[in-house]
Amino acid sequence: MSDTPRVRTRYAPSPTGLQHLGGARSALFPWLWARHNGGDFILRIEDTDQARFRADALADIFDMMAWLGLDVDEGPLGPDAEPNEYFQTQHAHRYQEEAQRLIQSGHAYYCYCSSERLQRLREQQIANKQPPGYDRHCRFLNDDERAAEAATCEREGRNPVVRLAVPLKGETRVKDAIRDESVFDNSTLEDIILLKSDSLPTYHLAHIVDDHDMRISHAMRGSEYLPTFPLHIITYEALGWEPPLYVHLPLILNPNGKGKLSKRKQSGDGAGSDNLTMVYEFREAGYLPEAFVNYIALLGWSFSADEEIATLDELVEKFNIYDIKVSPSAMNYEKLEWMNGYYIRQLPVEELAERVAPFLERAGLPTDRARLVEVLPLVQERMKLLSEGPELLDFFLADAPTPSSGDLPGKKMDTAMTVSTLEAARSALGEADWSMEGIEAALRGLAEELELKPGQLFQPIRVAITGRTQAPGIFETVYHVGREAVLSRLERAIGLLRQNA
Ligand code: GLU
Ligand code: ZN
Repeated sequence: MSDTPRVRTRYAPSPTGLQHLGGARSALFPWLWARHNGGDFILRIEDTDQARFRADALADIFDMMAWLGLDVDEGPLGPDAEPNEYFQTQHAHRYQEEAQRLIQSGHAYYCYCSSERLQRLREQQIANKQPPGYDRHCRFLNDDERAAEAATCEREGRNPVVRLAVPLKGETRVKDAIRDESVFDNSTLEDIILLKSDSLPTYHLAHIVDDHDMRISHAMRGSEYLPTFPLHIITYEALGWEPPLYVHLPLILNPNGKGKLSKRKQSGDGAGSDNLTMVYEFREAGYLPEAFVNYIALLGWSFSADEEIATLDELVEKFNIYDIKVSPSAMNYEKLEWMNGYYIRQLPVEELAERVAPFLERAGLPTDRARLVEVLPLVQERMKLLSEGPELLDFFLADAPTPSSGDLPGKKMDTAMTVSTLEAARSALGEADWSMEGIEAALRGLAEELELKPGQLFQPIRVAITGRTQAPGIFETVYHVGREAVLSRLERAIGLLRQNA
C-alpha cells in the first residue's frame, strides 16, 4: 500500500467582494489538481471577517463555480442553504481550542493592548524610521502585570487578542512546490494576531486549522501570501502539524506588464471588453466559460510550447502543479477575445443559438430557435463575443435600425443617384426569384444595367436593409431578411433620402 496521502485541494474565498479573474484561477488550479489525481475538491467559505461579509459576494462565489463548471466534492450547500461546517464561522470553537493549546504550550499569548496604544506605537516607530510592528509588550509580562492588564481590559469592556509567539532567534525555512527554499530571519517576523478580540480567528490561524482538519494535501493561493508564509510554517510547527504542500500562484499583471491587474480607465476605442476584471463581467460581456477557463489556465501555467487550446477535460489530464510558473503573467485581453471567437466558431449552431439567446432577449429581440439556426451561420465566423449577437443579428430578427442617410450613398453617388439606384433595386428584387441564385442574378444584372460596380450597388442596399454599414454577404442577407422586409426597408431608405434632399 502506498502511503501517499489522498490529494485533497480547496478553494477558500472570503465573501467580502465579488470574484475576480485571479479568484477564478485560484479556484481552477486546485480543482484541476484534484481531478487530475482523482482526489477531492473542497469549497470553504472564509467568513471570519464579519464586518466585511456581503451576501452578494457569497452568491457570486456559487455563480462563478457553476459558470466555470467546477464541481465541489465537499462544501456549502448553496447561497441560500443553512451554513454548514464549510463556513468558518460555523466551527469557531476549533480555532479557540487550538489558540488555547498554543497558549498552554507557550507558542501564543494574550495581548491586552488597546488600539490607542498600538496606534501610538506605530506613530513612534514611523517617526523613528523603524519598521512598524507589534513590540511584544504583552509577551513578557509577569503574573501581576498580566492580571493588571487583564483587569484594565475588562474595565474598558475590551477582549484581549491572542498573538503568535514567534521564536526570537533562529531562522525559518520555507519552500513551496515551485519555488526555491527561502530563509527568513525570525527576528524580522512579527507576533501576528491569531485570534481577534471578537474570538474569531484571523486568516493566519483559520486556514491552518481548517487545512489540517480537512486533510488538505495541497494549498494553492495567491503569491500575496508569500511574505506571511514563514509565519504559517511557524504556526504549523507550534501546533505540531505537518503543513500541506503550498503553491503560491504567480501574480496577474495589467496588460502592459505593470502592476497587479486592476480596473483601468476605458481605452476610448469603444471596444469595451478590455477593462474587465470581475468574473461576472466576463460572463455578461459574452465570454464562453470554456474559453475563459482555457485562457485563465494559461495564466502562469502552460502545457505545450505551441498549443494553447484545451477543453476542461484535456486540462485535467495535462495539469501539473510543478509546471506552474513563478514569474508573473500579464493579462492579454486580445488573446482572450481571440480564444472566445475560436470557441464560438467551434460551437454547433444549435448550441450557439442557446448561448446567444439570453443576450438577444436582453436586447428585446425575438429568439425563435429555428430562425436563429437559419441566420447564425452567416455571422458565426465573425462573432467574438456573445454580446455582439444583437448588433450582428437584429435586422434578421426584427425591424432593422433606421439607417443614417449619410451612410446610404454608395461610392461616388449623390443623393439623387442613390434614390434612383434604390428604386431600381426595389423593382428588381420585387420581381426576382427568391432564392440565393435568383437574388444574385437579379442584383448582378442590375449592376450591369446601371453600369455600376457590384460593390457600388450593394452598399446602399446593404445599408438600407440592415441599417448598418457592415453585414454578411449581400445575397445571403437579402435572402434571409425576406422579400417583404427588403422591399419595405428599401422604401423607407428612399423616403429618408428624399426628405433630406
Ligand atoms: N480567504 C483567503 C483569500 O480569499 C484564502 C487564501 C487561501 O487560499 O489560503 O485570499
Ligand atoms: Zn499587547
